[in-house]
Amino acid sequence: MTSTTLMSDTALLDAAREVAHRAYVPYSHFPVGAALIDGEGHLVTGCNVENAAYGETICAERNAITTMVAQYGAQRISAIAVIGLKAAPCWPCGACRQVLREFQCERVIVEGPDGEPLSLPFEKILPYSFGPEALDEE
Ligand SMILES: [Zn+2]
Repeated sequence: MTSTTLMSDTALLDAAREVAHRAYVPYSHFPVGAALIDGEGHLVTGCNVENAAYGETICAERNAITTMVAQYGAQRISAIAVIGLKAAPCWPCGACRQVLREFQCERVIVEGPDGEPLSLPFEKILPYSFGPEALDEE
């Protein structure tokens, strides 16, 4: 799915909800979808994909991010929307927050308890974070 137009937070959540229905979740029965807009305006989606070896499970957010890199070579994320079909809000887990940080994610959108989009700047969900610039040699 490709788009170079700006999307509303509601439309981004709708894209996340759509892909969540394709989640492979035979163990947790907890489908999650993520939809991101990369730095060039591409829309990329991902769902969680579980595995019988539980540790090999990949979250919806990281699935979308790896797809973004593979499809577009993008290295920035303007915004990501996350939907859990059985929980609202459904915030990214710690591992996904770190991976979002790698790609300078600017904003995270979840569905609030009232069904309305809830948007936060990324620094609010991962303050004092470790990132690539920490490895820069001076
Ligand atoms: Zn995660």
